[in-house]
Amino acid sequence: MSALMVSISGVRGIVGETLTPEVVLAYASAFAEYCGYGTVVVGRDSRVTGELVRQVVFAGLVSSGCKVIDLGICTTPGVQVMVKHLKADGGIIITASHNPVQWNALKFVGNKGFFLSKEDNTIFMPLAAKSGFKRVLWDEVKKIEAYPDAIRIYTQKLLKFSLINKLAIKKKKFKVVIDCVNGAGSVMCPGLLRALGCRVVELNCKPDGLFPHEPEPTPANLKQLCAAVKKHKAHVGFAVDPDADRLAIVSEKGVAIGEEYTLALCADYFLSRKKGPVVVNLSTSRMINDVCEKYGVKLTRTPVGEINVSTELVRQKGVFGGEGNGGAMAPEIHACRDACTGMELVLQYMAASGKSVSGLVASLPSYAIVKTKYDCSAVDMARAFDRFKNGFPGGAVDEQDGIRVDIGKSWVQLRKSNTEPVARIIAEAPTAAEAQQLTEQAKALLFG
Ligand code: MG
Repeated sequence: MSALMVSISGVRGIVGETLTPEVVLAYASAFAEYCGYGTVVVGRDSRVTGELVRQVVFAGLVSSGCKVIDLGICTTPGVQVMVKHLKADGGIIITASHNPVQWNALKFVGNKGFFLSKEDNTIFMPLAAKSGFKRVLWDEVKKIEAYPDAIRIYTQKLLKFSLINKLAIKKKKFKVVIDCVNGAGSVMCPGLLRALGCRVVELNCKPDGLFPHEPEPTPANLKQLCAAVKKHKAHVGFAVDPDADRLAIVSEKGVAIGEEYTLALCADYFLSRKKGPVVVNLSTSRMINDVCEKYGVKLTRTPVGEINVSTELVRQKGVFGGEGNGGAMAPEIHACRDACTGMELVLQYMAASGKSVSGLVASLPSYAIVKTKYDCSAVDMARAFDRFKNGFPGGAVDEQDGIRVDIGKSWVQLRKSNTEPVARIIAEAPTAAEAQQLTEQAKALLFG
């Protein structure tokens, strides 16, 4: 049986196995206390267990004295933006992001629309571990208010993004295939693309939570989208994960270009228009170093986890950031990862440059990145990290997040996942052979 995963990203488990109604009720009740029994915004992705989890979350919140604003099916960035917009005291997002169908999770959002930080969690998490929660009497039970306008309001906000020239995009009449994996993106992405004047081919845009392929938008899972782009002779294909905070791109040739390119392409356009500090995580491709160098802007790297990047972006008053797995962040919209923000920037870049996706990709420096993950339940990770740290003599060691070693224009990182019982190795180098060799070396050090 898998364990309940409690991390900086929230509480994640297999429904009925570890993510039980009892667990959900305890965390929702604890979050009510954390929010001072105020107003909490709740949204969910389209998972088949979403309705079950949502009802228990509602029970925990209202029985504790909270008022609930129910967004229904909504993207993760959509909920974050609405917490701020509605001046709520917090938010709960019911989504296991890119995890397979049997998983679900609660993600907790503070009153500024950001996930709880490590510090916030030191206050919140102990509240969930105690026994006994405050329950209000029948006449203090507040309303669960349905709020159907979230998607419309968020779409409007995105259409007013200062870097986007709606008319320029409209003129191009781009044909776009969008694969929402039947997730929460289905209720927002096709509409946004149409509002930008694109001719939209919908693929898996029924928000019924029945994922037609593995939901992580990595190239291996996007074969259907690649074929559809070719078949429809589209200019671009977009794929999002079930909560639509990650975006992957398929070129006009029907090639999945790899999710690292999402951030690099968005940054390349963004910085050409507006310069300022950029923040990304330590696992993001070196392409971003080259892009930031080109525009002469400062780049800061943080540990993996959206809140780590968001916090640093806000602290530095940064203009752009994100995570290399396809999560672009534009603080003008909100300093959170958002696939829709990414789609807008890519379309804008295509319109402004007149180039195709593969033309834009060709203009970026090329690296090979190899991402692997291994079951580490039998590995003493402290000793593995020690071996890894000393395994690359002459390299520059960064210990903010697992261990990353930079060697010239190559780097390799070993980290333990925040959300799964696995160790991840990421290696990047100017050639595929060098990246592969670094991966083999790192794997040998992991298993000692
Ligand atoms: Mg996600």
